[in-house]
Amino acid sequence: MIGTGALGAPLAIELARNGASELRLLDHDLEPGNSIRWPLGAAVWGKYKVLALKQYIDQHYPSCQVEPFVHQLGGTQELQIDDEVLEKILRGVDLIIDASASHGINRLLWDHGQRAGLPLVHLGATPDVTGGTVVLHTPDGGCPVCLQWHREEAQASIPSPPGADSTDLIQPPGCTERTFKDADYDLQELSLQAMRVAVGVLSSGKTRSESTVYTLALRDEHGGAMPPAWETSALPPPPHCPCMHERTRNEDANSADEPEVPQHM
Ligand SMILES: [Zn+2]
Repeated sequence: MIGTGALGAPLAIELARNGASELRLLDHDLEPGNSIRWPLGAAVWGKYKVLALKQYIDQHYPSCQVEPFVHQLGGTQELQIDDEVLEKILRGVDLIIDASASHGINRLLWDHGQRAGLPLVHLGATPDVTGGTVVLHTPDGGCPVCLQWHREEAQASIPSPPGADSTDLIQPPGCTERTFKDADYDLQELSLQAMRVAVGVLSSGKTRSESTVYTLALRDEHGGAMPPAWETSALPPPPHCPCMHERTRNEDANSADEPEVPQHM
């Protein structure tokens, strides 16, 4: 799991509680300010999130082994390079979960997943948390760029969640980054759906061929609050997406029986 914030942390605990045998968790920050949206409260202020989660899961769900990775993908002051860390965290896993809330990391993880033949579950909320998306990317299915194409070019064949264009972020005093101002209970809808998708992948033992998008709406067309509504869409890759070329290139590289060369973004 890449990213253990308000979306990833509840999902990590849920996976541990429901029988995952091993979790590898990567995150870098330790800001206590956002603990209002985090499952563990004041007792872990000042700790790295992945270390606090490991301690909690070790205590409460000891049959799940947690390996924490304190690292920032794309960070400029890290001691290890991203490819080395990703190689370690992804070796032998059954599923990649992207809860990083970063388009760049989403694309990077899709690339690693595709080359390793691994499914990728991505979850993210819109900035004002009036909606969000959970995506199951399969190795043969559509990629993150395919999803953008379906949303924006193909007559919105896959809907955008409410709030997708919002820039509703605030910077509270004392915080180094802008953040959204909404609460954990709306975000948890996304964690719960990602959990169901993850369990579907892990318990079936085989990967579905088609990527699937689950779009969450918490507001109606007039902006009024409504109970969580989900829409499910297939995500086929359009033939002109650059990912089709990458697939061919990866297949050629694999069939030539050459060691894989990491590809940089
Ligand atoms: Zn694509």
